[in-house]
Amino acid sequence: MKFQMNGFVMRLAIVTVIASLSLTLAYQCLAQGGVPELPGPGNTRISREQQQQLGFQAAAEVYKQIPVLPDSSSETQFVRQLGQRLVATIPPEHSWPFEFHVVAQKEINAFALPGGEMFVNVGTITAAANEAQLAGVMAHEMSHVYMQHSAKQMEKAQLTQGLAGLAGAIFGSKGGTLGSLAQAGVQVGAGMVMLKYSRGDEAQADEVGAMILYRAGYNPQAMADFFKTLESQGGSGPQFLSDHPNPGNREAAIQKEIQGWPPKKYQTTGSAFTQVRQQATAVKTYTADEIAKGAKTGQWDALNKQNGAVLKSAAGVAAPETTSAKSSNTTGNPAPSNDVMPGSRLLTVDLGPMRIARPENWDVIAAQQQGQSITIAPRSGIVSNGIGYGVVINGASFKGKATIDEMTAEIVRSLQSGGDLQVVGKATPIEVAGVGGRSVTMQSTSPFPDARGQSQKERDWLITLPRPDGSAIFLVFVAPESEYERLSPTFDRMLKSAQF
Ligand SMILES: [Zn+2]
Repeated sequence: MKFQMNGFVMRLAIVTVIASLSLTLAYQCLAQGGVPELPGPGNTRISREQQQQLGFQAAAEVYKQIPVLPDSSSETQFVRQLGQRLVATIPPEHSWPFEFHVVAQKEINAFALPGGEMFVNVGTITAAANEAQLAGVMAHEMSHVYMQHSAKQMEKAQLTQGLAGLAGAIFGSKGGTLGSLAQAGVQVGAGMVMLKYSRGDEAQADEVGAMILYRAGYNPQAMADFFKTLESQGGSGPQFLSDHPNPGNREAAIQKEIQGWPPKKYQTTGSAFTQVRQQATAVKTYTADEIAKGAKTGQWDALNKQNGAVLKSAAGVAAPETTSAKSSNTTGNPAPSNDVMPGSRLLTVDLGPMRIARPENWDVIAAQQQGQSITIAPRSGIVSNGIGYGVVINGASFKGKATIDEMTAEIVRSLQSGGDLQVVGKATPIEVAGVGGRSVTMQSTSPFPDARGQSQKERDWLITLPRPDGSAIFLVFVAPESEYERLSPTFDRMLKSAQF
Protein backbone atom coordinates (compact mmCIF):
# COMPACT_ATOMS: atom_id res chain seq x y z
CA MET A 1 0.00 0.00 0.00
CA LYS A 2 1.44 3.31 -1.01
CA PHE A 3 1.64 6.12 1.45
CA GLN A 4 0.30 9.35 0.21
CA MET A 5 1.90 12.37 1.72
CA ASN A 6 -1.47 13.90 2.42
CA GLY A 7 -3.60 10.88 1.99
CA PHE A 8 -5.18 8.78 4.59
CA VAL A 9 -2.54 6.10 4.75
CA MET A 10 0.01 8.61 5.88
CA ARG A 11 -2.36 9.80 8.49
CA LEU A 12 -2.63 6.32 9.83
CA ALA A 13 1.04 6.32 10.37
CA ILE A 14 1.39 9.62 12.14
CA VAL A 15 -0.94 9.06 15.00
CA THR A 16 1.79 8.06 17.40
CA VAL A 17 3.18 11.55 17.14
CA ILE A 18 1.41 12.75 20.23
CA ALA A 19 3.43 10.39 22.35
CA SER A 20 6.72 11.32 20.76
CA LEU A 21 6.35 15.10 20.69
CA SER A 22 7.44 15.44 24.26
CA LEU A 23 10.63 13.58 23.45
CA THR A 24 11.92 16.21 21.09
CA LEU A 25 13.34 18.45 23.78
CA ALA A 26 17.07 18.23 23.59
CA TYR A 27 18.97 17.01 26.51
CA GLN A 28 22.65 17.38 26.95
CA CYS A 29 24.90 14.51 27.55
CA LEU A 30 28.56 14.70 28.25
CA ALA A 31 30.66 11.75 27.26
CA GLN A 32 33.86 10.85 29.00
CA GLY A 33 36.31 13.67 28.87
CA GLY A 34 33.45 16.19 28.82
CA VAL A 35 33.05 16.46 25.08
CA PRO A 36 29.38 17.27 24.43
CA GLU A 37 27.47 14.54 22.63
CA LEU A 38 24.70 15.50 20.26
CA PRO A 39 21.26 14.59 21.57
CA GLY A 40 19.37 11.94 19.62
CA PRO A 41 17.49 13.46 16.68
CA GLY A 42 14.14 12.29 18.03
CA ASN A 43 11.43 10.29 16.36
CA THR A 44 9.42 11.20 13.37
CA ARG A 45 7.10 9.16 11.25
CA ILE A 46 8.11 11.15 8.17
CA SER A 47 10.79 8.83 6.85
CA ARG A 48 14.29 9.86 5.90
CA GLU A 49 13.51 9.18 2.26
CA GLN A 50 10.44 11.38 2.38
CA GLN A 51 12.39 14.17 4.03
CA GLN A 52 15.06 13.95 1.35
CA GLN A 53 12.44 13.84 -1.36
CA LEU A 54 10.66 16.91 -0.02
CA GLY A 55 13.92 18.78 0.46
CA PHE A 56 15.09 17.91 -3.00
CA GLN A 57 11.85 19.09 -4.54
CA ALA A 58 12.10 22.34 -2.62
CA ALA A 59 15.73 22.73 -3.70
CA ALA A 60 14.75 22.23 -7.35
CA GLU A 61 12.27 25.07 -6.88
CA VAL A 62 14.98 27.21 -5.29
CA TYR A 63 17.12 26.79 -8.40
CA LYS A 64 14.28 28.14 -10.51
CA GLN A 65 13.73 31.16 -8.32
CA ILE A 66 17.04 32.23 -6.85
CA PRO A 67 20.48 32.95 -8.36
CA VAL A 68 22.85 30.25 -7.14
CA LEU A 69 26.62 30.37 -7.67
CA PRO A 70 28.09 27.48 -9.62
CA ASP A 71 29.63 24.71 -7.54
CA SER A 72 33.03 25.64 -8.96
CA SER A 73 32.97 29.14 -7.43
CA SER A 74 35.51 29.67 -4.68
CA GLU A 75 32.73 30.76 -2.31
CA THR A 76 30.84 27.51 -2.83
CA GLN A 77 34.02 25.49 -2.54
CA PHE A 78 34.88 27.13 0.74
CA VAL A 79 31.39 26.80 2.20
CA ARG A 80 31.33 23.18 1.14
CA GLN A 81 34.64 22.40 2.89
CA LEU A 82 33.53 24.20 6.01
CA GLY A 83 30.22 22.36 5.86
CA GLN A 84 31.90 18.98 5.58
CA ARG A 85 34.01 19.78 8.60
CA LEU A 86 30.82 20.39 10.57
CA VAL A 87 29.12 17.29 9.15
CA ALA A 88 32.03 15.21 10.42
CA THR A 89 30.89 15.91 14.00
CA ILE A 90 27.50 14.26 13.46
CA PRO A 91 27.10 10.55 14.23
CA PRO A 92 26.98 8.94 10.77
CA GLU A 93 23.85 6.93 11.55
CA HIS A 94 21.93 10.17 12.09
CA SER A 95 23.58 12.21 9.38
CA TRP A 96 22.17 13.37 6.06
CA PRO A 97 23.60 13.80 2.56
CA PHE A 98 24.34 17.47 3.17
CA GLU A 99 25.00 19.62 0.11
CA PHE A 100 26.13 23.24 0.32
CA HIS A 101 25.29 26.05 -2.07
CA VAL A 102 25.89 29.78 -2.13
CA VAL A 103 23.17 32.25 -3.15
CA ALA A 104 24.10 35.47 -4.96
CA GLN A 105 22.10 37.55 -2.54
CA LYS A 106 23.20 40.72 -0.76
CA GLU A 107 21.22 40.27 2.44
CA ILE A 108 22.30 38.00 5.26
CA ASN A 109 20.47 34.70 5.15
CA ALA A 110 20.99 30.98 5.16
CA PHE A 111 18.56 28.11 5.11
CA ALA A 112 18.63 24.36 5.06
CA LEU A 113 15.95 22.11 3.66
CA PRO A 114 14.89 18.79 5.14
CA GLY A 115 17.27 16.13 3.88
CA GLY A 116 20.34 18.36 3.91
CA GLU A 117 20.41 20.89 1.03
CA MET A 118 21.84 24.06 2.54
CA PHE A 119 22.00 27.53 0.99
CA VAL A 120 24.16 30.35 2.34
CA ASN A 121 23.90 33.89 1.00
CA VAL A 122 26.99 35.75 -0.17
CA GLY A 123 25.82 38.46 2.26
CA THR A 124 26.32 36.05 5.16
CA ILE A 125 29.90 35.34 4.13
CA THR A 126 30.77 39.01 3.87
CA ALA A 127 29.00 39.87 7.15
CA ALA A 128 30.75 37.22 9.22
CA ALA A 129 33.45 38.77 11.39
CA ASN A 130 35.38 35.53 11.33
CA GLU A 131 35.28 31.96 10.10
CA ALA A 132 33.66 30.69 13.32
CA GLN A 133 30.70 33.04 12.85
CA LEU A 134 30.01 31.68 9.38
CA ALA A 135 30.43 28.18 10.79
CA GLY A 136 27.98 29.16 13.54
CA VAL A 137 25.20 30.06 11.11
CA MET A 138 25.78 26.86 9.20
CA ALA A 139 25.90 24.73 12.35
CA HIS A 140 22.58 26.24 13.42
CA GLU A 141 21.00 25.38 10.04
CA MET A 142 22.54 21.94 10.11
CA SER A 143 20.97 21.34 13.50
CA HIS A 144 17.48 22.01 12.13
CA VAL A 145 18.10 19.25 9.59
CA TYR A 146 19.70 16.94 12.11
CA MET A 147 16.83 17.35 14.58
CA GLN A 148 14.34 16.88 11.69
CA HIS A 149 12.46 20.01 12.68
CA SER A 150 10.61 20.33 9.37
CA ALA A 151 9.41 16.74 9.55
CA LYS A 152 8.25 17.31 13.10
CA GLN A 153 6.38 20.44 11.99
CA MET A 154 4.76 18.37 9.28
CA GLU A 155 3.63 15.75 11.75
CA LYS A 156 2.03 18.40 13.88
CA ALA A 157 0.24 19.86 10.87
CA GLN A 158 -1.01 16.49 9.75
CA LEU A 159 -2.05 15.59 13.22
CA THR A 160 -4.14 18.72 13.51
CA GLN A 161 -5.74 18.01 10.18
CA GLY A 162 -6.24 14.41 11.12
CA LEU A 163 -8.34 15.40 14.07
CA ALA A 164 -10.58 17.50 11.86
CA GLY A 165 -12.76 14.64 10.80
CA LEU A 166 -12.82 11.08 9.72
CA ALA A 167 -14.47 11.52 6.34
CA GLY A 168 -12.12 14.34 5.44
CA ALA A 169 -9.19 12.27 6.54
CA ILE A 170 -10.12 9.52 4.16
CA PHE A 171 -11.45 11.30 1.14
CA GLY A 172 -9.77 14.66 1.36
CA SER A 173 -6.40 14.16 -0.22
CA LYS A 174 -5.11 17.51 -1.26
CA GLY A 175 -2.04 19.58 -1.79
CA GLY A 176 0.57 17.22 -3.19
CA THR A 177 4.19 18.14 -2.69
CA LEU A 178 3.58 21.82 -2.16
CA GLY A 179 1.03 21.01 0.50
CA SER A 180 3.51 18.68 2.14
CA LEU A 181 6.20 21.32 2.05
CA ALA A 182 3.89 23.90 3.53
CA GLN A 183 3.04 21.44 6.28
CA ALA A 184 6.74 20.98 6.84
CA GLY A 185 7.01 24.73 7.36
CA VAL A 186 8.87 25.31 4.09
CA GLN A 187 7.55 27.76 1.53
CA VAL A 188 9.31 28.54 -1.71
CA GLY A 189 7.90 31.35 -3.78
CA ALA A 190 8.76 34.61 -5.51
CA GLY A 191 12.44 34.15 -4.87
CA MET A 192 11.94 33.59 -1.18
CA VAL A 193 12.29 30.55 0.97
CA MET A 194 10.35 30.90 4.15
CA LEU A 195 10.83 28.53 7.00
CA LYS A 196 8.68 28.09 10.01
CA TYR A 197 10.43 26.99 13.14
CA SER A 198 9.07 27.23 16.63
CA ARG A 199 10.98 28.96 19.38
CA GLY A 200 11.59 25.53 20.85
CA ASP A 201 13.15 24.47 17.55
CA GLU A 202 15.31 27.57 17.63
CA ALA A 203 16.53 26.97 21.14
CA GLN A 204 17.34 23.42 20.12
CA ALA A 205 19.14 24.45 16.92
CA ASP A 206 21.24 26.88 18.98
CA GLU A 207 22.00 24.20 21.51
CA VAL A 208 22.90 21.47 19.02
CA GLY A 209 24.65 24.01 16.78
CA ALA A 210 26.91 25.00 19.65
CA MET A 211 27.85 21.35 20.13
CA ILE A 212 28.62 20.92 16.44
CA LEU A 213 30.81 24.04 16.51
CA TYR A 214 32.68 22.91 19.59
CA ARG A 215 33.22 19.42 18.24
CA ALA A 216 34.47 20.88 14.95
CA GLY A 217 36.96 23.02 16.84
CA TYR A 218 35.18 26.38 16.57
CA ASN A 219 34.30 28.59 19.49
CA PRO A 220 30.54 28.15 19.99
CA GLN A 221 30.36 31.67 21.36
CA ALA A 222 30.77 32.84 17.75
CA MET A 223 27.23 31.72 16.92
CA ALA A 224 25.83 33.87 19.71
CA ASP A 225 28.02 36.76 18.54
CA PHE A 226 26.70 36.53 15.00
CA PHE A 227 23.07 36.54 16.14
CA LYS A 228 23.83 39.53 18.27
CA THR A 229 25.36 41.36 15.33
CA LEU A 230 22.28 40.51 13.25
CA GLU A 231 19.92 41.86 15.84
CA SER A 232 21.85 45.05 16.38
CA GLN A 233 22.12 45.69 12.65
CA GLY A 234 18.45 45.08 12.05
CA GLY A 235 18.51 46.06 8.42
CA SER A 236 20.16 43.35 6.37
CA GLY A 237 19.17 40.19 8.16
CA PRO A 238 15.46 40.45 8.94
CA GLN A 239 14.57 37.42 6.86
CA PHE A 240 16.98 35.26 8.75
CA LEU A 241 15.68 36.49 12.07
CA SER A 242 12.05 36.03 11.15
CA ASP A 243 12.77 32.48 9.97
CA HIS A 244 14.83 31.87 13.10
CA PRO A 245 13.17 33.84 15.89
CA ASN A 246 15.16 34.47 19.03
CA PRO A 247 13.95 31.93 21.54
CA GLY A 248 14.79 34.44 24.25
CA ASN A 249 18.14 35.09 25.89
CA ARG A 250 19.89 33.50 22.96
CA GLU A 251 23.40 34.56 23.93
CA ALA A 252 22.91 33.78 27.61
CA ALA A 253 21.53 30.34 26.82
CA ILE A 254 24.49 29.48 24.61
CA GLN A 255 26.95 30.78 27.18
CA LYS A 256 25.30 28.77 29.92
CA GLU A 257 25.37 25.66 27.77
CA ILE A 258 29.06 25.85 26.94
CA GLN A 259 30.17 26.82 30.46
CA GLY A 260 31.09 23.32 31.61
CA TRP A 261 32.80 22.19 28.43
CA PRO A 262 36.53 21.64 28.73
CA PRO A 263 38.69 24.47 27.45
CA LYS A 264 39.88 23.96 23.93
CA LYS A 265 42.20 25.69 21.55
CA TYR A 266 39.73 26.90 18.99
CA GLN A 267 40.25 27.17 15.26
CA THR A 268 41.15 30.71 14.34
CA THR A 269 40.24 32.36 11.10
CA GLY A 270 42.38 30.92 8.35
CA SER A 271 43.74 32.83 5.42
CA ALA A 272 41.39 30.89 3.13
CA PHE A 273 38.37 32.46 4.85
CA THR A 274 39.82 35.95 4.72
CA GLN A 275 40.53 35.49 1.05
CA VAL A 276 37.09 34.10 0.21
CA ARG A 277 35.35 36.84 2.16
CA GLN A 278 37.37 39.40 0.22
CA GLN A 279 36.49 37.75 -3.10
CA ALA A 280 32.84 37.50 -2.08
CA THR A 281 32.59 41.29 -1.90
CA ALA A 282 33.27 41.33 -5.64
CA VAL A 283 30.60 38.75 -6.53
CA LYS A 284 27.63 40.17 -8.38
CA THR A 285 24.82 39.96 -5.84
CA TYR A 286 21.16 40.88 -5.93
CA THR A 287 18.79 42.29 -3.36
CA ALA A 288 15.74 40.40 -2.16
CA ASP A 289 13.54 42.67 -4.32
CA GLU A 290 15.63 42.05 -7.42
CA ILE A 291 15.53 38.33 -6.77
CA ALA A 292 11.76 38.36 -6.35
CA LYS A 293 11.39 40.18 -9.68
CA GLY A 294 13.79 37.85 -11.45
CA ALA A 295 11.97 34.83 -10.10
CA LYS A 296 8.82 35.96 -11.90
CA THR A 297 10.53 36.42 -15.25
CA GLY A 298 12.51 33.18 -15.11
CA GLN A 299 15.79 35.11 -15.03
CA TRP A 300 17.42 32.92 -12.36
CA ASP A 301 16.34 29.67 -13.88
CA ALA A 302 18.07 30.72 -17.10
CA LEU A 303 21.11 32.15 -15.32
CA ASN A 304 21.59 29.07 -13.17
CA LYS A 305 21.41 26.83 -16.21
CA GLN A 306 23.85 29.02 -18.07
CA ASN A 307 26.26 29.03 -15.11
CA GLY A 308 25.99 25.31 -14.62
CA ALA A 309 24.50 25.89 -11.18
CA VAL A 310 22.09 23.03 -11.46
CA LEU A 311 20.92 20.91 -8.61
CA LYS A 312 22.25 17.39 -8.63
CA SER A 313 20.28 14.64 -7.09
CA ALA A 314 21.54 13.70 -3.67
CA ALA A 315 22.26 10.04 -3.13
CA GLY A 316 19.29 7.83 -3.62
CA VAL A 317 16.72 10.54 -4.15
CA ALA A 318 14.87 10.64 -7.41
CA ALA A 319 14.68 13.90 -9.28
CA PRO A 320 11.26 15.55 -9.14
CA GLU A 321 10.44 14.54 -12.73
CA THR A 322 10.70 10.89 -11.85
CA THR A 323 8.87 10.86 -8.58
CA SER A 324 5.49 9.83 -9.94
CA ALA A 325 4.10 6.46 -9.08
CA LYS A 326 5.97 4.81 -11.93
CA SER A 327 7.28 1.53 -10.78
CA SER A 328 10.90 0.79 -11.47
CA ASN A 329 12.86 -2.38 -11.29
CA THR A 330 13.85 -1.86 -7.74
CA THR A 331 11.87 -0.22 -5.03
CA GLY A 332 14.81 1.29 -3.23
CA ASN A 333 13.71 -0.31 0.00
CA PRO A 334 15.74 -3.06 1.56
CA ALA A 335 14.07 -6.41 1.86
CA PRO A 336 12.45 -6.61 5.27
CA SER A 337 13.99 -8.88 7.81
CA ASN A 338 12.20 -11.99 8.91
CA ASP A 339 10.70 -10.19 11.89
CA VAL A 340 7.78 -9.00 9.77
CA MET A 341 6.35 -12.50 10.00
CA PRO A 342 3.61 -12.68 12.60
CA GLY A 343 4.27 -14.72 15.70
CA SER A 344 1.71 -17.37 16.50
CA ARG A 345 0.60 -15.69 19.70
CA LEU A 346 -2.25 -13.21 19.29
CA LEU A 347 -3.27 -10.46 21.67
CA THR A 348 -6.60 -8.68 21.57
CA VAL A 349 -6.60 -4.96 21.09
CA ASP A 350 -9.59 -2.73 21.72
CA LEU A 351 -9.73 -0.10 19.02
CA GLY A 352 -12.91 1.54 20.23
CA PRO A 353 -15.35 0.72 17.45
CA MET A 354 -13.97 -2.78 17.23
CA ARG A 355 -11.84 -5.34 18.99
CA ILE A 356 -9.42 -7.41 16.99
CA ALA A 357 -6.58 -9.81 17.66
CA ARG A 358 -3.09 -8.90 16.55
CA PRO A 359 0.19 -10.80 16.41
CA GLU A 360 2.22 -10.10 19.50
CA ASN A 361 5.14 -8.74 17.47
CA TRP A 362 3.02 -6.32 15.41
CA ASP A 363 2.48 -2.83 16.73
CA VAL A 364 -0.76 -0.95 16.95
CA ILE A 365 -0.39 2.52 15.60
CA ALA A 366 -3.63 3.95 16.82
CA ALA A 367 -5.50 7.22 16.65
CA GLN A 368 -6.17 9.25 19.74
CA GLN A 369 -9.85 9.57 19.04
CA GLN A 370 -12.47 6.94 18.71
CA GLY A 371 -13.41 6.14 15.13
CA GLN A 372 -10.16 7.23 13.59
CA SER A 373 -7.68 5.25 11.62
CA ILE A 374 -5.39 2.53 12.82
CA THR A 375 -2.52 0.47 11.47
CA ILE A 376 -1.45 -2.87 12.85
CA ALA A 377 1.90 -3.80 11.40
CA PRO A 378 5.40 -4.94 12.16
CA ARG A 379 7.77 -1.99 12.46
CA SER A 380 9.95 -3.18 9.64
CA GLY A 381 6.90 -3.75 7.43
CA ILE A 382 6.38 0.01 7.20
CA VAL A 383 8.67 2.03 4.99
CA SER A 384 8.72 5.55 3.67
CA ASN A 385 6.53 4.91 0.69
CA GLY A 386 4.14 2.41 2.06
CA ILE A 387 3.05 -0.45 4.21
CA GLY A 388 4.34 -3.75 2.91
CA TYR A 389 3.08 -6.04 5.64
CA GLY A 390 0.20 -5.48 8.00
CA VAL A 391 -3.36 -4.26 8.28
CA VAL A 392 -4.78 -0.82 7.73
CA ILE A 393 -8.11 -0.14 9.41
CA ASN A 394 -10.16 2.92 8.76
CA GLY A 395 -13.68 4.23 8.69
CA ALA A 396 -15.66 5.95 5.99
CA SER A 397 -18.79 8.03 6.09
CA PHE A 398 -21.09 8.64 3.17
CA LYS A 399 -23.48 11.29 1.98
CA GLY A 400 -26.97 9.90 2.29
CA LYS A 401 -27.85 6.25 2.45
CA ALA A 402 -25.57 3.84 0.68
CA THR A 403 -25.75 0.10 0.17
CA ILE A 404 -22.74 -1.99 1.14
CA ASP A 405 -21.90 -2.38 -2.57
CA GLU A 406 -22.00 1.38 -3.08
CA MET A 407 -19.88 1.89 0.02
CA THR A 408 -17.38 -0.68 -1.16
CA ALA A 409 -17.13 0.88 -4.61
CA GLU A 410 -16.58 4.29 -3.02
CA ILE A 411 -13.87 2.99 -0.71
CA VAL A 412 -12.13 1.20 -3.60
CA ARG A 413 -12.17 4.42 -5.63
CA SER A 414 -10.71 6.33 -2.73
CA LEU A 415 -7.96 3.78 -2.23
CA GLN A 416 -7.18 3.74 -5.94
CA SER A 417 -6.66 7.50 -5.98
CA GLY A 418 -3.52 6.85 -3.95
CA GLY A 419 -1.65 4.66 -6.41
CA ASP A 420 -1.54 1.73 -8.77
CA LEU A 421 -4.15 -0.37 -7.04
CA GLN A 422 -6.03 -2.84 -9.28
CA VAL A 423 -9.13 -4.74 -8.34
CA VAL A 424 -8.83 -8.45 -9.03
CA GLY A 425 -12.20 -10.13 -9.52
CA LYS A 426 -15.48 -9.08 -7.99
CA ALA A 427 -16.53 -8.00 -4.55
CA THR A 428 -17.94 -11.02 -2.77
CA PRO A 429 -20.09 -11.23 0.37
CA ILE A 430 -18.34 -12.06 3.61
CA GLU A 431 -19.60 -12.25 7.17
CA VAL A 432 -17.50 -10.82 9.98
CA ALA A 433 -18.78 -10.93 13.56
CA GLY A 434 -22.31 -11.40 12.28
CA VAL A 435 -22.09 -8.39 9.95
CA GLY A 436 -22.54 -8.89 6.22
CA GLY A 437 -19.76 -7.10 4.38
CA ARG A 438 -17.77 -7.39 1.19
CA SER A 439 -14.41 -8.91 0.37
CA VAL A 440 -12.36 -7.49 -2.49
CA THR A 441 -8.99 -8.75 -3.63
CA MET A 442 -6.74 -6.06 -5.01
CA GLN A 443 -3.23 -5.91 -6.30
CA SER A 444 -0.56 -3.21 -6.32
CA THR A 445 3.21 -2.88 -6.27
CA SER A 446 4.85 -3.80 -3.01
CA PRO A 447 7.14 -1.20 -1.46
CA PHE A 448 9.51 -4.10 -0.82
CA PRO A 449 11.60 -5.71 -3.55
CA ASP A 450 11.63 -9.45 -3.99
CA ALA A 451 14.61 -11.62 -3.05
CA ARG A 452 16.44 -10.63 -6.24
CA GLY A 453 15.89 -6.95 -5.63
CA GLN A 454 13.21 -6.63 -8.30
CA SER A 455 9.90 -4.94 -7.74
CA GLN A 456 7.09 -7.33 -6.96
CA LYS A 457 3.32 -7.50 -6.75
CA GLU A 458 1.47 -7.00 -3.54
CA ARG A 459 -1.89 -8.38 -2.54
CA ASP A 460 -4.26 -6.04 -0.76
CA TRP A 461 -7.29 -7.75 0.70
CA LEU A 462 -10.06 -5.28 1.39
CA ILE A 463 -12.91 -6.04 3.78
CA THR A 464 -15.75 -3.54 4.06
CA LEU A 465 -18.31 -3.72 6.84
CA PRO A 466 -21.37 -1.50 7.23
CA ARG A 467 -22.13 0.04 10.59
CA PRO A 468 -25.58 0.78 12.02
CA ASP A 469 -25.07 4.54 11.68
CA GLY A 470 -24.65 4.34 7.90
CA SER A 471 -20.87 4.53 7.93
CA ALA A 472 -18.48 1.68 7.20
CA ILE A 473 -15.36 0.18 8.66
CA PHE A 474 -12.81 -1.20 6.26
CA LEU A 475 -9.67 -3.24 6.69
CA VAL A 476 -6.92 -3.79 4.16
CA PHE A 477 -4.63 -6.75 4.78
CA VAL A 478 -1.33 -6.21 3.00
CA ALA A 479 1.51 -8.53 2.01
CA PRO A 480 3.65 -9.22 -1.06
CA GLU A 481 1.99 -11.79 -3.34
CA SER A 482 4.97 -14.10 -2.90
CA GLU A 483 4.49 -14.21 0.84
CA TYR A 484 0.76 -13.78 1.06
CA GLU A 485 0.10 -17.44 1.75
CA ARG A 486 2.38 -17.37 4.76
CA LEU A 487 0.47 -14.44 6.21
CA SER A 488 -2.99 -15.46 5.11
CA PRO A 489 -3.74 -17.72 8.11
CA THR A 490 -2.91 -14.84 10.45
CA PHE A 491 -5.11 -12.46 8.48
CA ASP A 492 -7.96 -14.98 8.70
CA ARG A 493 -7.50 -15.39 12.43
CA MET A 494 -7.47 -11.65 12.91
CA LEU A 495 -10.65 -11.22 10.90
CA LYS A 496 -12.40 -14.06 12.75
CA SER A 497 -11.48 -12.42 16.05
CA ALA A 498 -13.12 -9.13 15.17
CA GLN A 499 -15.93 -7.96 17.47
CA PHE A 500 -17.99 -4.82 17.38
ZN1 LIG B 1 16.84 28.44 13.25
